[in-house]
Amino acid sequence: MKNKTDVLIMGGGIAGVSTLYHLTKLGWTDVMLTEKLDLTSGSTWHAAGNLPHFSNSFNVMKMQQHSIALYARLEEETGHPVDHHPTGAVRLAHTVERMNEFERVVAMSKLAGLDLEMISVERLVELYPYLNPEGVLGGLWDPADGHIDPTSATNAMAKGAKDAGATIVRQNPVEKIVQKEDGRWEVTTPKGVIDAGIIVNAGGFRANELAKMVGHELPMCSMEHQFLVTDSIPELEGRDEMLPMLRDPDVSYYLRQEGKGFILGPYEPDGIPWATDGVPKEFGQELLAPDLDRIEDIMMTAMTQVELVAEGGIKTVVNGPITYSPDGHPLVGPVHGIDNYFVITGFNFGIAQGGGAGHFMAQWIVDGEPELDLFELDPRRFGDYADIKYTVAKGTEVYANEYQLGYANEYAMRPAVRGQKKTPIDESHKADNAVFGAYFGWERPSWFAPAGTEPKEIHSFGRSNWFNPVAAECKNVQENVGLLDLSPFSKFEVSGEGAYDYLSNIMPNHVPTKPGQIVLAHPLSPSGGVAWEVSITMLQDGSYYMMSPAALEIVVDDWLFSRLPKDGSVSLKNTTKVGGCLLITGPNARKVLSKVTDVSLSNADFPWFTGQEIDVAGVPTRALRMSFVGELGWELHHPVEHTQKLYDALHEAGAEFGLKNFGLRAMDSMRFEKGYPVWGPDMNTEFTALESGLSWFVKMDKDFEGKDILLKQKEAGFENDMVMIEVDSGSNGVDAQNGFEPLYLDGEIVGQCSSGGFGNRIQKSLAFAFIKTKKIDKKADNAGLTVKILGKHYPAKIVSMCNYDPKNERIKADD
Ligand SMILES: Cc1cc2nc3c(=O)[nH]c(=O)nc-3n(C[C@H](O)[C@H](O)[C@H](O)COP(=O)(O)OP(=O)(O)OC[C@H]3O[C@@H](n4cnc5c(N)ncnc54)[C@H](O)[C@@H]3O)c2cc1C
Repeated sequence: MKNKTDVLIMGGGIAGVSTLYHLTKLGWTDVMLTEKLDLTSGSTWHAAGNLPHFSNSFNVMKMQQHSIALYARLEEETGHPVDHHPTGAVRLAHTVERMNEFERVVAMSKLAGLDLEMISVERLVELYPYLNPEGVLGGLWDPADGHIDPTSATNAMAKGAKDAGATIVRQNPVEKIVQKEDGRWEVTTPKGVIDAGIIVNAGGFRANELAKMVGHELPMCSMEHQFLVTDSIPELEGRDEMLPMLRDPDVSYYLRQEGKGFILGPYEPDGIPWATDGVPKEFGQELLAPDLDRIEDIMMTAMTQVELVAEGGIKTVVNGPITYSPDGHPLVGPVHGIDNYFVITGFNFGIAQGGGAGHFMAQWIVDGEPELDLFELDPRRFGDYADIKYTVAKGTEVYANEYQLGYANEYAMRPAVRGQKKTPIDESHKADNAVFGAYFGWERPSWFAPAGTEPKEIHSFGRSNWFNPVAAECKNVQENVGLLDLSPFSKFEVSGEGAYDYLSNIMPNHVPTKPGQIVLAHPLSPSGGVAWEVSITMLQDGSYYMMSPAALEIVVDDWLFSRLPKDGSVSLKNTTKVGGCLLITGPNARKVLSKVTDVSLSNADFPWFTGQEIDVAGVPTRALRMSFVGELGWELHHPVEHTQKLYDALHEAGAEFGLKNFGLRAMDSMRFEKGYPVWGPDMNTEFTALESGLSWFVKMDKDFEGKDILLKQKEAGFENDMVMIEVDSGSNGVDAQNGFEPLYLDGEIVGQCSSGGFGNRIQKSLAFAFIKTKKIDKKADNAGLTVKILGKHYPAKIVSMCNYDPKNERIKADD
């Protein structure tokens, strides 16, 4: 057996083999895969092989798009037979909200160049003649959906990889993994020790066994999933063409033709986690005991919708383990704090996603980043709060909600295992009737429900019960003063004689040189995209205090620690858990704060965008004069043990000035008006910092990581440009709030919204959008520009980026 390789993939299911194949496509041929048993012997061999494009996540849709396009050409390319049936697929909608979801996904699919379309009930019945359409309002049709035999797809990719020079070793389980001093790996298997530059954990439901050998644990569990296969049905025997696939998300099942019978696969509400204490050692290429009782209700409903199914007796029931992460997306990418190690596992739709995921995984290994921003899949989107108990409870909840409507806030508000991370004023927020969402484990008030009403969001693709309370929160911030808990921010402290040089090399902006100075900076990904955002404050002692979005804590931690000079000249601390932050903002902010501090807060003594260490109500506070909502304000950073004291003191002092809490929804409404983008939708690695409208923060007169790429782009011109649009949704009250709403001009797509909503202070619907510079001139009149939201075109116009207090007079107010 070969005993040295650039990359060793551990696990020969569809995900591992796809990674191997795609590495060879990128020119890395000294690559190897070792498989415990035979290829596909994990979950892959028994999968139903369904291949949807449909997803509420744009990047997951694109990942599936890559898989499906690949599978369609794989046989011709590799010469290995691939049993692929692009039968097309229909989805049924029984409710208006389901129709809205379909409209949203169809519009999004156009951005990816896909042919998904909304269809009437008549068309549904035409495409699927055996459907009883009672109660169905309409549907969605994807002509390229279908199914594939997963084993044939995996083996074809294996052949393609081997033909290109890759090595595959079967019946060779990894038994021990040790990282050497030089960062390479020594991987022990029965057939010998393999010296690998990079290792990839593709162990499927055994991925945690491999993870433990490396020294960590992955947030993933396995669920039992069953489908039944019917006997041949005479009616189908008489048909030449295969029926399209049918999914009824409202009832929660998929149905497809298998031979001359059917496969029926329900997702039941009370799913069963499997092997939560570890997979039995002896478990091989096996199935689990079927349990039809659990899926009986769904089966019966399906049989009333397609009566033909009942004509075939049950031939077999396939019950197998299927992996789930806590949010239902796979775990694809690097692992916190471990170099030269990647994972690609945790798939519940691994056949539909494996082809694409392997492609992006290979890019991550070879190019240092995938072409899409895959934070949604990055294992580092979970922190240490995602322990096994959490993972099993969330995985079970995801399974039950497999076909849940894709509302923006819905996942964050699900009930299972809440309260993993709370700030000290959680009870105060509860007492104020907060409606919480869990983001990166943190309980954060999304909005505050009026007293006497249930603090619960009614989910919707439009405006619902949160809309008026959020408007009231914005009004109070605009007229009086509001308080927002920003404690979940990730926070870092950098000090030492090398601190300035270290940061300056990472940051495209100038790093502060005077105590109290604050700058915003956007470190770049290898292709010049926005990897993360940070505010940097220089403290009195010359050290630096940095804040980044809460969800990025681990990514930023990795980024900063991996670049730390080895000579000890820089000291770096992650202070997220020990620091709290309360934002007090609004025209009365100075009046409130002046009651609890002796320090002068005048413009002369405390200018905008500067910081000072001050005492506030007896709490040692790092006060930073800035506000993400565009009003006079200070962020008060402080030791977390004082958060409650500070909160109480501010509320006491603020009562006479109308101080009230506000939540993340109100913050969003106000940031749209100011034109402040957020990392994630509006800034990410898919668009360069210049395309994202961040030129102001990129200083070409200094050196920084990624500058050469931006210089090249400046010369070549930008493909995309970030703009603000105003949406005229008339009395419909619809906003581009879910992201990925396409912009049309003269019937052609010219851009896409990234995030949007209603600006309550200016009473306008706004959205950030990336436009295609070759297709639209942002300075032209652009009459006829529209944005498509939930199936309708609404007039839109490009407006200035800042639409509220563009001169910043309110932020800089001196009275
Ligand atoms: C009943 C059922 C129906 C499904 N239907 C669909 C569907 O219609 N569409 C869809 O997209 N998905 C479907 N899935 C999900 C799909 O099967 C999985 O998501 C996918 O197969 C996961 O692939 P994988 O490569 O990550 O894992 P696996 O296929 O489990 O591969 C992991 C491999 O790692 C190997 N391994 C483990 N430990 C070691 C070790 N120590 N050393 C070396 N090798 C090791 C294993 O032997 C295994 O071969 C279904 C799943 C089930 C259970």
